[in-house]
Amino acid sequence: GRSGFCNSSSTFYSKRKPIPLPHNDSLDITTFISSQAHRGTVAFIDGSTGRQLTYAQLWRAVRSVASSLSDMGIRKGHVVLLLSPNSIFFPVVCLAVMSLGAIITTTNPLNTTAEIAKQIADSKPVLAFTTRQLISKLGGSTTDLSIVLIDDDEIRAPNHGTGNGKIVSTLGQMMVTKERHGSSNGGLNLKEEINQDDTATLLYSSGTTGASKGVVSSHKNLIAMVRVVLSRFNLDDGEDTFLCTVPMFHIYGLAVFATGLLASGSTIVVLSKFEMHDMLRAIQKHRVTYLPLVPPILVALINAADQIKAKYNLSSLRRVLSGGAPLSREVIEGFVEKYPTVTILQGYGLTESTGVGASTDNLEESRRYGTAGLLSASMAAKIVDPDSGKALAVNQTGELWLKGPTIMKEYFSNAEATAATLDAQGWLRTGDLCYVDEDGFIFVVDRLKELIKYKGYQVPPAELEALLLTHPQIVDAAVIPFPDEKVGQYPMAYVVRKAGSNLSEKDVMEFVGKQVAPYKKIRRVAFIASVPKNPSGKILRKDLIQLATSSSSSK
Ligand code: AMP
Repeated sequence: GRSGFCNSSSTFYSKRKPIPLPHNDSLDITTFISSQAHRGTVAFIDGSTGRQLTYAQLWRAVRSVASSLSDMGIRKGHVVLLLSPNSIFFPVVCLAVMSLGAIITTTNPLNTTAEIAKQIADSKPVLAFTTRQLISKLGGSTTDLSIVLIDDDEIRAPNHGTGNGKIVSTLGQMMVTKERHGSSNGGLNLKEEINQDDTATLLYSSGTTGASKGVVSSHKNLIAMVRVVLSRFNLDDGEDTFLCTVPMFHIYGLAVFATGLLASGSTIVVLSKFEMHDMLRAIQKHRVTYLPLVPPILVALINAADQIKAKYNLSSLRRVLSGGAPLSREVIEGFVEKYPTVTILQGYGLTESTGVGASTDNLEESRRYGTAGLLSASMAAKIVDPDSGKALAVNQTGELWLKGPTIMKEYFSNAEATAATLDAQGWLRTGDLCYVDEDGFIFVVDRLKELIKYKGYQVPPAELEALLLTHPQIVDAAVIPFPDEKVGQYPMAYVVRKAGSNLSEKDVMEFVGKQVAPYKKIRRVAFIASVPKNPSGKILRKDLIQLATSSSSSK
């Protein structure tokens, strides 16, 4: 290419300044973050109660909890489950667990008991942190999990409210005990040596096909991601207040709010769940300057702009970051028109790339409407023809492959899925159909992979298809994404009924709806004679998507 970012073998290199990576092999993400120089005072503010955690309190809490975990027998390599809505304590748990070399796995609090049981069976946690409200969702597991309550200061009667598993402590107690005893010989001093290549997180993603899988990310992956976050957000003026509306269980929230920004000393206002007016009230009250969110919230902000601007003072807001799902040109233009003083920035990434991939970092870059941005620092890319496997040139569309220090190690206990996703040279197949323009900007054109994204949440079609096939009157089924301006996409099912069955669309939706988290519900059904498949039995989803969208637009 003319600007030298693309070489003869069609590899595109990031145009951003490479991120410096620590050479010290024995380094964990928690130590790395806490060692970053910063001048921040308040780390977290609970948006509903106003409770604050200063940076000093945050690090003291992390050390105390780590020390208590160590006393409980939590060791390097153990998996700890965190089932919680966003809270100022969510990062405390993550950082404490990872500081011991133990592995944190998170799950969506909206998931059903059965869905969570599946993840428990796969990841085999030895301990779970959860809230009193969510504890019953751990009841479907056959393992005997020890449980720590995040939101209670006292241990109540043992086994209260749980099926299996027992409450062994509370986070409040774990934080207080060690403060009283002092941490001179506790906590971080007891930990085993941690190597940057050791596993830090196990987040679940369905990747390009099939069911949800554990994404194995190392301390090195997270350290590199934090470096990218730091260089990207350019927070040297130290005056920024972020509002956390995106879920911390997902890589987006985990990368930005539970790790990345803490290395910069920023202040983060945390809302336990997204609600439009709570969000607007919090922006006004805390003079929020940076607002990371997902496209559906942007759409809502545009649609209600006039009422919002009449009711709330949003003058502090300087930047909105959108990520996790595609943002259309229309939405960007609509937002710029309604909120002319706010700069809109884009971010593209995957769980499998520790949230890193591409981004626009200033107004000028964002003005290239429709782009996901320039490749992130220290990241390389290829655009590969899905049919021939050939690497393509500038402005040609193919599957985006990524390589760099944030790419996951593997899928947990799943060599087959790993081999299908990572090649021998370490390239990650993203499953996204993209092109790179002559200036190095990436454009996401379509999704090759099966994944459906409803409001930014992952919905794996294979999971819903398997469920549909358990219905006695369903012979075959295929689930596809149906485009929707408000939510991005929602799941639609094509169903083949048993001969003579008069199963209705509503029956199908109810059958699935009873068994899955609300964001996975099937919201549209059509009956067909047979599911189109290729000779090897793979569902021809593109044909069905075409059928669905053409028949709905002709209505
Ligand atoms: P997840 O692992 O849940 O973060 O999902 C990753 C997938 O979300 C990517 O492979 C894309 O399909 C989609 N995605 C994330 N960010 C963007 C973006 N800025 N534009 C388009 N698609 C995106």
